[in-house]
Amino acid sequence: MKVTIVGMGAVGTEITGFLVNMAEVSEIVAIDRNRERVEGEILDFSHTTSFTYAKNPRMVVGDYADSAGSDIVVITAGAQLTQGQTRDDLVRANSVIIREIIAEVERYSPGAIVIVVTNPVDVITWVALKSSSFPRERLFSSGTLLDSARFMRIVSDHVGIDPKNIFGYMLGEHGSTGFIPWSICNVCGLDIDTYCRLNGIPLIDKAAVSAEVRNVGYEIFNRKGNTNHGIAAAVFRLIRAIEADERSVLPVGVLLQDQYGVDDVVMSVPCVVGRNGVERIVNYAFGFDEQAALHRSADHIKSLIALAQ
Ligand code: NAD
Repeated sequence: MKVTIVGMGAVGTEITGFLVNMAEVSEIVAIDRNRERVEGEILDFSHTTSFTYAKNPRMVVGDYADSAGSDIVVITAGAQLTQGQTRDDLVRANSVIIREIIAEVERYSPGAIVIVVTNPVDVITWVALKSSSFPRERLFSSGTLLDSARFMRIVSDHVGIDPKNIFGYMLGEHGSTGFIPWSICNVCGLDIDTYCRLNGIPLIDKAAVSAEVRNVGYEIFNRKGNTNHGIAAAVFRLIRAIEADERSVLPVGVLLQDQYGVDDVVMSVPCVVGRNGVERIVNYAFGFDEQAALHRSADHIKSLIALAQ
């Protein structure tokens, strides 16, 4: 498996760390405008391989020609938020950057699965799809996988059990209009209220949890100037699902084409992820309010897409 990371800033470097430590990857190609810094990162990573659990991957600091024939390309390149900006403020700058990058990725790795991370990720993924011939199955975003992990962590802290025993998603936009479909969330198979009632735990404040999931990224950003650990773990989870052909259900940002009453918008819904990328979109019967939240999210993403044209 050959994986290329385009954009070796805080997020790309952390993803590389996961791959070097834990993945069955034979080659990692690192591409960034700032080549010298990436040479430093890769040299540094090369000193970890005596101690890691993974294969000893070939690591290349390169350009797009070196990435030729990649199985997976992860795109994290772009302008980062500055203090006081929201993800939406990045639309124009990162739309220009993604058009340049996706042309090179398509030229050298037309058969790759492309995972977009650059924010605002739903819009940037849409731009990448419209500027290339990649099918939606092989070009999608990390979507709300990170938001969903944040959600599971918060519920886990409330009920006092492992986040892996919590099931639930944040769906829609990776941003201000993302929503939690509570009707399909559960703790060990019980809906969250029932679990709390049966186990003597105070009911969870759903509005507060939704707000916390949406805002926690900014909380981190305000303290350290970026967020990288959670998103890198989420992207690594996606790479593993592809590499091992897991067919795991994960909320990723996929182009909806008349699904859930939404057309021509990239947003997160539960998808089956395996060797071919997004193998299938899973259908749920959401409640009326959840369906309305999904449409509000789609409308907001559409308004941002208009800025990217
Ligand atoms: P960063 O500024 O540390 O890194 C960005 C890197 O992109 C830099 O190294 C820069 O040199 C490089 N770059 C810029 N333009 C380039 C180009 N045209 N070609 C090649 N390289 C280029 O930022 P970061 O913290 O790593 O974040 C990267 C992106 O990921 C941002 O857009 C951020 O908002 C986004 N992000 C998304 C999520 C998510 O859940 N989707 C989470 C965290 C961060």
